[in-house]
Amino acid sequence: MQQRHIYLEDTYHVSADTQVIDAGLSEHGPWVTLEDNIFHPQGGGQPSDAGTVGEAAARPFKAPDTDLHVVRLACEKTFDVGAQVTARVDPELRRRHAALHTCGHVVDGFVRELGFRHRVSNHFPNQARIEFDAGADKPDLQKLAAVVEERTREMIAADRKVYAEHRGDQRIVGIDGLHEDPCGGTHVASLGQLAGFSLRSIKVKGGVLKVGYTVEHAE
Ligand SMILES: [Zn+2]
Repeated sequence: MQQRHIYLEDTYHVSADTQVIDAGLSEHGPWVTLEDNIFHPQGGGQPSDAGTVGEAAARPFKAPDTDLHVVRLACEKTFDVGAQVTARVDPELRRRHAALHTCGHVVDGFVRELGFRHRVSNHFPNQARIEFDAGADKPDLQKLAAVVEERTREMIAADRKVYAEHRGDQRIVGIDGLHEDPCGGTHVASLGQLAGFSLRSIKVKGGVLKVGYTVEHAE
């Protein structure tokens, strides 16, 4: 049975009444697969959601021995295949991760516009940063930070739309007027939902430009 990934369609859809379509026991404990999946598994620099199935704590993971598109939930207890359950994602964690992740796209887009090649992204709370090739000449970090910070603030103030669409096999996520990237993460619907943005740190180490930032989801 095909699993439907609601977390890719709607970031704010945080509960679902659905059916267990597969279940088992691994060395780490019980797991289930739900027909309607609302959990984002860790990936693309974004941490996983956490939540519950029924009353049992659950956390998603991508099973190495299955189709890459299947998300399983490590679960405190077992369920029978065919059981009807209510799944819930921690809404605060979801919103926080979506804000950090979306803001990462914006920071990434503006640093790239200044000619730096993206290396890797980390959207974990308190350590969110995007890394780039620093290039041959040491960049003027103060100026770089000022430009990126100002432009990001302008985009947030303008409440630019965030969109996702499928093109061929890829899911493309875009920020209106800035950039597009293939991405499987969760995002806010528009940048006005970001609050308290600032650059946390900017430095070059070993030829790598590291731009750290912080942001919250607006109330
Ligand atoms: Zn993304």
